[in-house]
Amino acid sequence: MELLKSFYEINSKSGHEAHIKEFFMAQITELDIWVEEDSFGNIFITKGCAGSYPCVTAHLDEVHALVEKSIVVDGDMIYAVDGCGERVGIGADDKNGLWIIVRLLHSKPVLKVALFVQEERDGEMAGCRGSRACRLDFFNDVRYLFAVDRKGNSEVVTVGKGDIRLCDDEMFPMAVLQKFGYECVPGGRTDVVALKERGLQVPCCNIGCGYYNAHKNEEYTMFSHLQKALAFVSELIDSI
Ligand SMILES: [Zn+2]
Repeated sequence: MELLKSFYEINSKSGHEAHIKEFFMAQITELDIWVEEDSFGNIFITKGCAGSYPCVTAHLDEVHALVEKSIVVDGDMIYAVDGCGERVGIGADDKNGLWIIVRLLHSKPVLKVALFVQEERDGEMAGCRGSRACRLDFFNDVRYLFAVDRKGNSEVVTVGKGDIRLCDDEMFPMAVLQKFGYECVPGGRTDVVALKERGLQVPCCNIGCGYYNAHKNEEYTMFSHLQKALAFVSELIDSI
């Protein structure tokens, strides 16, 4: 949980992702990986050597502005308060995804990772700016791209906003879905939807990773739900 709290303590408002990038990279320094950063600031990581790769993605930015905050752990629940004791957001959307990806990079011998900047809408600026600007050839040798950027702990988004089909629901083994209590649902606009709109051919989805009340001061995480999401994604990677 300490790693997660450290992620929450870092502010990564869209366009200000340098600190969280540095922190993320510090968690994986000892790994034998290949890291590239594009001119927009997106990060691409390759671990291992294979003919085809599982690939996971999360976004580095959050909607919340920088404020002084203390992280509160209340049983399974994690949230933050400011100096007056008022609730403030933690950016669990999508630091929970970053936490899962750090764990996967340590545990999986073969994995590709895309970390996007500026996923969140910002005033008049539309979202998914990083994923709309990146090159797509990084994904030429990936079997699928799983985003870990969905609220809750039971949904796999397979159809994005605008009726964008991300993948066939049948690609997920029913036994694995049932074991972890997940089901395929339609959802909103995220980086994988933007990539599909640009013509990305690989199957994509967006998986619930244990955060609630995203974009609000009342944002929180249920740590056991985040751990379940990690176990679910890990088993999916081992099965397909
Ligand atoms: Zn998000």
